[in-house]
Amino acid sequence: MKVYKFGGASVKSAEAFKNLAHIVQTQGAGSQLLLVVSAMGKTTNALELVFNLAYAGKPYTQELQQCFSYHTEIVKELFTNAGHPVYERLEHLFSGLEHELQSIKLPDSYDKLYDQTVSYGELFSSTIVQHFLEQQGMKATWIDSRKYIQTDNTWREAKVDWAWSERVIKRDLPALLAQQIIVTQGFIGGTNNRLTTTLGREGSDFSAAIFAYCLDAEAMYIWKDVEGLLNADPKYFSDTVRYPEISYQETIEMAYYGASVIHPKTIKPLANKKIPLYVKSFLNPTGAGTRICDCRFEKIAPAFIIKENQCLISFSVKDFTFITEQNLGTIFNALSELRIKINLMQNSAISFSICTDYNEERLQKLLKTLQQDQFTIQYNTGLQLFTIKNYDNECLQRTMQGKEILLEQRTRTTFQFVSK
Ligand code: ASP
Ligand code: MG
Repeated sequence: MKVYKFGGASVKSAEAFKNLAHIVQTQGAGSQLLLVVSAMGKTTNALELVFNLAYAGKPYTQELQQCFSYHTEIVKELFTNAGHPVYERLEHLFSGLEHELQSIKLPDSYDKLYDQTVSYGELFSSTIVQHFLEQQGMKATWIDSRKYIQTDNTWREAKVDWAWSERVIKRDLPALLAQQIIVTQGFIGGTNNRLTTTLGREGSDFSAAIFAYCLDAEAMYIWKDVEGLLNADPKYFSDTVRYPEISYQETIEMAYYGASVIHPKTIKPLANKKIPLYVKSFLNPTGAGTRICDCRFEKIAPAFIIKENQCLISFSVKDFTFITEQNLGTIFNALSELRIKINLMQNSAISFSICTDYNEERLQKLLKTLQQDQFTIQYNTGLQLFTIKNYDNECLQRTMQGKEILLEQRTRTTFQFVSK
C-alpha cells in the first residue's frame, strides 16, 4: 500500500480537487491507498485568526463566516446536487467548530483550546475529498485520525504514542484498505480522553509518515506545487536545482535547518523502515520528482536554507564571572520550560548567544525568568538565519555578499550565519 499526502495547495480550489482526484485515479491505480489531507489553502491561518479573536473575547463572526464561505463555494462547484450528503456533513462540522469557539472559557490553556478549534480545517478538507472521490466513481472511506494517532497532551506539538497507534492502525486499517481508499486528516491526533491535539504547524507530512510507518507502506508520496526537493526555495533563489535522489540523512538535516518542504519529524519513521519518500508535483504528476531513500552520494549540490523572523539573544553574567556549566544549565532549563528551540548557539568567556524563532510572548517570559537571576540579556529581532549545506567558497561569497552578519559558524559540511 502507499500513503499519499496532499498539502493545502493541492486542495485550495475546485480545480485543485479535480486534479487531486485525477492523480489518485491515474497514479494510484493498482495500489491500495491511504490519503492524508491538509486543510484547504490557507485555512489553518484563517482558523488561527478566528481562534485568537475568540480567545481575546473579540468578535470573530465575520472571519469565521469567510472561512465557511470559502469552503461552501468550492463545495458548490464540486457537488451540483444540492441534496448531496457532503452538505450535511459540513454543516455538522461547522456547528461543531462554532460550538468550540463559543465554549472557550478562560483561563483554560491557550494551546489546548487552540487544538480543539484549529484542527477543524483538516476535518473539513478530508470530508470533501472523500465525498468527491466517491462522486468521481472511486470507493473511498473517511476515518478520523484522532482515533488512530494517539498522543499525549503536549498541546500544539503532541507526542505520538507509537505503540498504541501502531497496534490500532494495524488492527483496523488493512482490511479497509483492501476494499477502498482511506481518506484521513493530517496535522491532528487525539488523547486517550478524546481531546484533539495537533502535531505542530505543517504537521501533515508527519501524520502521513506515521500512517506509512504503522502500515509498513511500500512508499509515501508528498504531492506539492514544486517539482521535487529543491536545493533552495525558489522564492529566494532563481537558479534552483532538483535532487533526483537524496538520502534520508541529508533530508533530515535540511528539514532540521528549516527547509520548509518537509516537516522535520517526517523522515525518521520512514528511514527506520526504509520506506522511500517521493516528493512530486501535483501540477506535473508524471514528472520524476525526488526520491528520498537509503542512499549515499559523494558530492551533492549545496543546499541553501533561510529561516526568517529570527531572534538573536545574548546572555552575559552580571558579575563578569565566566559562563559556567551551571549558568548554561539555568539558561537551558528556562528555554526548555518555555519550549524555545535553539536554531544556533555559540558561547564565549562571558556571554552565550542563541538564535531562535522570534516569539514575543515567550521572549518576554524568558527575560523575566532569567533577568531575575544573574544574567544580562540583549537581543535583536527581525533577523535571518542562513544555512548552507555542502558549501563551497564560491557559494559562500555569493550568499554573504553585502549582508551585515551578526554571528557565523562553520563545520566541515555546514555554514551558518545570522544576518540583518
Ligand atoms: N494545515 C496545517 C498547517 O497549515 C498542517 C499542514 O498543512 O501540514 O499547518
Ligand atoms: Mg498547510
